[in-house]
This record gives sequence, structure tokens and C-alpha cells, in this order.
Amino acid sequence: MSNGTTNKGRPGQPVRTHEESLDLLAAVAVEVGLGLKRGQELLMTAPIDALPLARRITEHAYRAGAALVTTLFTDEEATLMRYRYAPDESFDHAAKWLYDGMGAAFKSGSARLAIAGGNPGLLSKQDPEKVGRANRAVSQAYRPALELITRHAINWTIVASATPAWAAALFPGETAETALEKLWALIFSTTRIDRDDPVSAWRAHDANLQKRAALLNEKRYAALQYRAPGTDFRLGLADDHLWLGGGTTAGNGIYCIPNMPTEEVFTTPHKDRAEGTVTATKPLSYQGTMIEGIRVRFEKGRIVEAQASKGEEVLRKLIDTDDGAGRLGEVALVPHSSPIASSGQVFLHTLFDENAASHIALGQAYSSCLREGDKLTPEELAARGANTSLIHVDWMIGSEKLDIDGISAQGTAEPLMRQGEWA
Ligand code: ZN
Ligand code: ZN
Repeated sequence: MSNGTTNKGRPGQPVRTHEESLDLLAAVAVEVGLGLKRGQELLMTAPIDALPLARRITEHAYRAGAALVTTLFTDEEATLMRYRYAPDESFDHAAKWLYDGMGAAFKSGSARLAIAGGNPGLLSKQDPEKVGRANRAVSQAYRPALELITRHAINWTIVASATPAWAAALFPGETAETALEKLWALIFSTTRIDRDDPVSAWRAHDANLQKRAALLNEKRYAALQYRAPGTDFRLGLADDHLWLGGGTTAGNGIYCIPNMPTEEVFTTPHKDRAEGTVTATKPLSYQGTMIEGIRVRFEKGRIVEAQASKGEEVLRKLIDTDDGAGRLGEVALVPHSSPIASSGQVFLHTLFDENAASHIALGQAYSSCLREGDKLTPEELAARGANTSLIHVDWMIGSEKLDIDGISAQGTAEPLMRQGEWA
């Protein structure tokens, strides 16, 4: 892209070149997102089209004292070649040695950074059967390494890079260059890179999210009741649940902010206590497949009916991954006025869309969302209601029409959100 400016200098906003903004994003990802420590290794994954950001991050990581930065690039064309030419048995296969290696890296103290930004519809035209099998194989192989991330054993973060395929999916009517510029502008504004001092903007935002989580922790609700068009749903929270928001002190003692952007406060629901019907308010891009018009019904925590107007087969395969895939592992609250929601843009990427709307996630729970959760055995976690699964997939149920009540242990209801905003 050209080195034109990323904003037109609205009053109070600094005017920076694209290169300057990209460099700031990398600096903030390393300093605020990861909190990378001197002498620590960094394992990064990135789409090949995110090379410019990956290089900036590498530079900032070394300047922060990284012992070694190792980056694994993925190429979407190569992924498509597999679907076109690989033998059928290929789709039950995953590079187990690679995921074992990632697990070994985390165990030896490496930090983890993922750059998101692939084509959200990459696999939309591929056989859902094969997509489902390939996803399952990866989930199984990645599980031991992913567990270290969901437990926050190490410091980690995810940031996004605009890529031509992603930009084209969001702005189909624009030229390639304009689409890319528009997407970068959205990434820089939603990740607070367009502020005078992005680092202090992040510190202030993090403190706000922590305050919101603390308020919810004082309330100690037993359940949440959701009402919106197509949604009438009661969700029990796990016993000893803990609301989190913003940053976390990882098991290695390093403070990190795992998602950039982040606008959510979230906790662990009880895996056996979801009842009623929920309708998604945004399309879900899952591993390259678009799933639209999701509507599911829960009984005793488990999905008993599932529909989608598009991608229903992939949704069903997802729910059938294992016993926990049809139960909930996360509940998150995001006001409808969050900067990402106000941009009005559907990003087709969970990293952004989950921060634009209240959501729930199928699958694995975060043990850090239970009091003393990191010290509990798998059996103790399950007894408190924390779900286990190979998958963790967030989908959006928030809108300006959503009302949520907090239900106390005694069964009394109080307004928590009204028309999508904090009550
Ligand atoms: Zn979430
Ligand atoms: Zn999630």
C-alpha cells in the first residue's frame, strides 16, 4: 500500500503515515499486549500477507530484549491446494509434531503472539465434511498447547493485520487499495493506535474493564436472563465464577492483554444450566466457513436443536465435535456503544466481532474465570460447572434490542443491560 496517511487529521487526532501507525501497533502489541520480558522467547504465527506487521513486531520484540523470535507463516493458497489435490485421508491429519513443539515452547517459557487477518470465507466453497475433519484433527493435535493458553500459563496476545483478501470480503465495491486502507483505518482506531498516546489510552481502557469486572464480581449473580427478538434464554453461571476483563497476570507472572482490541467482560457459565432459545445477531466465520442465521435451543445446558440459514452442516459438525461442543464455555458482556459496535462494521473475524456484541462461546471454558481456577483439578473444575471441549467458538447474540437481567442466588432479578447498554 502507499505511504499515505491513515487518517485525515480529525481535530485532536495525530496525523501519522501508515508506516508510523504500523510501527506503533507493533510497539503496543509487544509492550502492552504481551508485556514481553527481557530474555523471553516469542513464538508468532501470521498469515503471509501480514509480513510487514510481523517484521515490525519482530523488531520491537528484539528491542524489548527477546532471546529469540520464531515466526510460523501460513499461506491460504497452500491451504486451498490441499482441498483441491490432497488424498481423502489427508483431512484426518494434522502436524502433531508442530503443535507438540509449540507446547514445548510454551512450557519452556516462550510468549505467544498470533496475527489474525486471514480470508474469512476461504473455505466457504469446500466440502464441509472435509473442513470438519481437518478442523477436528487440528483441534486434537493443538489441545495440549492450547490448554496452556486457555489456562493463561504464559503471556499471550492476538492482534490483527489488514490483508487483501479480508479487506476485499469487507469492502467488495472498493478498489483493492481503498479496501485495504479502510480496513487498516478501522484496525488502528479500534485498537486505539490513532490516539495521541496509545499506551496510556490502553492503560486507562484496561482499568475501566477491570472496574466493570469487579462490580460484577461483587454482585455474584447465579444466572443471567436474556430477552431479545428470537432470544429467550436463561444461563446459569458456574459456581465460584470470576468475571474478567482487560488484562490478566499469566501463570508466569507477566501481565498481558490477550486480545487487541478487547471490550468484553467475561466469565464461565455453568455447563449444565442453559435453558431456552438463542438467536445469533451476526454471521460467524468459523475456520474459513460463514455460518449465518444461527438459532439454537438449549436444555439442561446442551444444544438440543440447531439451525442456520447458511453453513448449517458446518455448525452441526462443530456441535458434534465432542460432548462439550454443544455446551457453553464462556459468557461475555459488551455494551452496544463499544467503539467496534459504533463503527457499524461487521469484521467477519471473532477478534473484532466478539468485542462489538455480547456473546457466548461453545466449548472449552477458561479456568482463570473461576476463583482459584488454576489450582483446581479437571474433576474439580467440572464439579463447579466448567465445560471441556476441543473447541472454543464465540458467537454474537448482542444487539441494541437485547435486555439482560442478573438473577441472584435467591432468584430476584435486576436489570443489568437494557437495549444493549449497561443499566
Ligand atoms: Zn469472548
Ligand atoms: Zn471466547
